[in-house]
Parts: sequence; structure tokens; C-alpha cells
Amino acid sequence: MPEIMVNNIHKSFGAMQVLKGTSLSVKSGEVVALIGRSGSGKSTMLRCINGLETIDSGSITVAGHTLDGNPKHLRALRTDVGIVFQSYNLFPHLTVGENIMLAPSIVKKVKRTEARKAAEEALKLVGLSEKFDAYPDMLSGGQQQRVAIARSLAMQPRVMLFDEVTSALDPELTQEVLTVMETLARKGMTMVLVTHEMGFARRVANTTVFMHQGKIWETGPSQDLFANPKTPEMRQFLSADV
Ligand code: ADP
Ligand code: MG
Repeated sequence: MPEIMVNNIHKSFGAMQVLKGTSLSVKSGEVVALIGRSGSGKSTMLRCINGLETIDSGSITVAGHTLDGNPKHLRALRTDVGIVFQSYNLFPHLTVGENIMLAPSIVKKVKRTEARKAAEEALKLVGLSEKFDAYPDMLSGGQQQRVAIARSLAMQPRVMLFDEVTSALDPELTQEVLTVMETLARKGMTMVLVTHEMGFARRVANTTVFMHQGKIWETGPSQDLFANPKTPEMRQFLSADV
């Protein structure tokens, strides 16, 4: 059974149809890049997968949990699925370690010593072990984003979703965040990432999905898709300066 199954979902905001019969299947350990023009529905897609948006029709099952309106299933899904956004939203009055320990302590009711261990492991994975007691404003944007990733990882998710996590960062800081994501990919994490980093998508994602006007316009192994885009829309998207 695939780790993520999105089957023919529709989603509108008022009169505007944003997702128009979108399907996606992601295997355990697979890395999928979602690319496409601004407004094509990429973020909405990720938010639906995490249950942050309700769908109008279709079905979604992630890590064995089906979004069927049952709040228990939604909660179970959320603990197994981490999502990281462009804005890191760390609590400024808490240290890095405390930020990371918060969700495991509150949501999973993990003991403090255990939460601390998970936080230390997550921080190590993003290469920031020495920042446990630092406050967020002492860190660079790239470091803060890596803490945000560590905060998600401390929940020990089965799936990670990334929505343009490097878009607000300078090029050199972008690189350190991409490196963390590549490490995760190599460790076998199931990931869906929305990105403008085409080189990264091509190199790291097993599959790339090009969304256009709320539909999956083209999809396939990343190498093939980038080397040989089939639709004029994707060709134009790739040649545009994005
Ligand atoms: P992308 O991430 O590809 O740029 P989005 O999924 O954010 O696209 O948005 C797709 C469309 O849905 C856009 O036209 C956007 O304005 C609209 N949209 C997204 N979220 C909402 C919302 N909460 N309310 C109304 N419209 C929304
Ligand atoms: Mg978006």
C-alpha cells in the first residue's frame, strides 16, 4: 500500500476551483517534487494531504490513516505527517530545544527525558547540535529553518511535507537547508516537496509532478520529466525564469 494515496480530489474556495480531480500516489521512501506556477494549487494540495484543508470530494489516505471526517483519524494522521512552511514560526521566547520538545510533550505526551533525547537526535540530523540552548533570534534564517525541520522530525513522522521552505532564504542559506532535505531523502523518508529549486528536484526527487491550473499536468521520473517535458505548458514553465 502506498504511503500517500490521493484519489481524485476536488477543492474549491468559494466559486474558485483550485484542485480539479487530482490524484497522487507516493510509495514509502519515495521523494516527490511538486512544481508549477504560482496559483496552480501546490500548497493547497500539501495542506489537503495533511488535513489542514478539507476536501470537497475524493479520498486521501496517508500513513494508513484515512481522512474521513473522524477527528481521531485526523489527529492520528497529523502526528505521522510533518509539514514545514516557508515561514519557520519558532516561538521566540523558547530555546531551540524547548521549541522542538513542545509538540512531542504536548501532543504525544512523551516524558521530558524522552522528548529531550528526540530533540537532540533531530537537532543532530540537521547539523545544529550545539544550538540546543540558543534562542531563535540568535540563529540565521537557514538555521531557523533547520530547527523548524528538526521540530517536525522530533515527532518521528512517517511522511514529511515541505512547502517552499527555502523561498525566503539567501542562496547560501538555501543550500544548507537543501542539504538537510537531501540527507532525509537518503535516509529513506517519504517526502513531498513544493520547490522552485529545479536542480534539486531533478537530482533528489524520484518523481516530479508538474501542476497546472489545479491538475496534474505531467508526472514521471524526475530525470525524464526535466529532460523531455511533453506539454507546452511545462516547457514554458521550465524556460521561464522562476
Ligand atoms: P500555489 O501554492 O501553487 O501557488 P495555492 O494552492 O496556494 O497555489 O493556491 C491556489 C489558488 O487557490 C490561488 O488562486 C489561491 O489564491 C487560492 N487559495 C489558496 N488558499 C485559499 C484560501 N484559503 N481561500 C481562498 N483562496 C485560496
Ligand atoms: Mg504555494
